Amino acid sequence: MVMGWPFAWRLASRFVAGQNLEQAISVVRELNSAGINTTLDHLGEHTSTAEESAQATADILATLDEIQRSGVRANVSIKLTQIGIGLDEALCRDNLLRILQRAREHGIFVRIDMEDTPYTDVTFAIQSAMLARGFTSEHFGLVVQAYLLRSEADLKRLLEMKTRLRIVKGAYNESPEKAFPKKEDTDANYDLLAKLVLDQAAASDYHLSADGRTPALLAVATHDDKRIQFAISYANKLGLAQDMYEFQMLYGIRRDVQTKLVKDGYSVRVYVPFGTRWYPYFMRRLAERPANVWFFVSNFFRA
Ligand SMILES: Cc1cc2nc3c(=O)[nH]c(=O)nc-3n(C[C@H](O)[C@H](O)[C@H](O)COP(=O)(O)OP(=O)(O)OC[C@H]3O[C@@H](n4cnc5c(N)ncnc54)[C@H](O)[C@@H]3O)c2cc1C
Repeated sequence: MVMGWPFAWRLASRFVAGQNLEQAISVVRELNSAGINTTLDHLGEHTSTAEESAQATADILATLDEIQRSGVRANVSIKLTQIGIGLDEALCRDNLLRILQRAREHGIFVRIDMEDTPYTDVTFAIQSAMLARGFTSEHFGLVVQAYLLRSEADLKRLLEMKTRLRIVKGAYNESPEKAFPKKEDTDANYDLLAKLVLDQAAASDYHLSADGRTPALLAVATHDDKRIQFAISYANKLGLAQDMYEFQMLYGIRRDVQTKLVKDGYSVRVYVPFGTRWYPYFMRRLAERPANVWFFVSNFFRA
């Protein structure tokens, strides 16, 4: 229903780069020309049939082909529920194999977004399956959510496998048995996780690739100034080069911070979502910030 309201798309388009690949690539070009790398997300999650998951996979393959054809500084982010994990693990593995094969042919890194906790363990199981098929940390990476109590243990295990990691606070509604109920605890855990990955980065030699497509070991994905400043000061203390970690932000959020970081020589990547299935993504962005909800509601009554 919401997706049928023209004003809803007007608001969503603050966070969503366009409804098709062409529009998304044009946003990517603009960001690239401002010195910003990107990750393209063809929106979609929780597909409910094998055909839908095949279509989602085909869309991701088309995105990879277009990144290669256009030569933009971009990689892709995908969700396992988009390619069928909620239907059948084997189906999802097959879809992911096709995506990773194509991405490897083009030299494009794939980030598997982390969804809500029913999918945490299966995401790690799928990672092991892909490592067993010969894909490495050079080809794909995962996300760790600082709000989860389990994340420190998960992250330590992932670092042993040299997994390239994006650290986020976490965007889903989780119970207090699984996630820190207080924001300050999530924030403190965020800094701890970033510190652990930076320590590992200091002991290894992962740099951002020259084409901007393969990230270094750590992606600090937040719009929170304090988390960003913590990562910078700790990386400086370790003497890490600026291309040994990167900052990631969502399209439409804190452009001022993105520009300042680029000006100061840091690697910045913007997450660029696009496509017609924008509703759940848009709702998460509204939920993150009460001011966004009020903006949405007041526009609803005006319309
Ligand atoms: C690149 C990237 C990838 C992500 N991938 C995942 C993932 O795979 N799994 C997952 O669970 N979560 C993911 N997230 C979302 C993340 O978990 C948070 O929900 C989101 O980033 C908001 O938290 P924050 O770290 O910015 O901190 P907050 O403390 O929530 O926000 C800090 C400041 O940022 C600004 N801000 C934050 N959110 C908004 C908003 N919606 N609208 C306007 N301003 C805002 C505000 O100024 C706010 O004060 C991702 C985030 C980024 C940046």
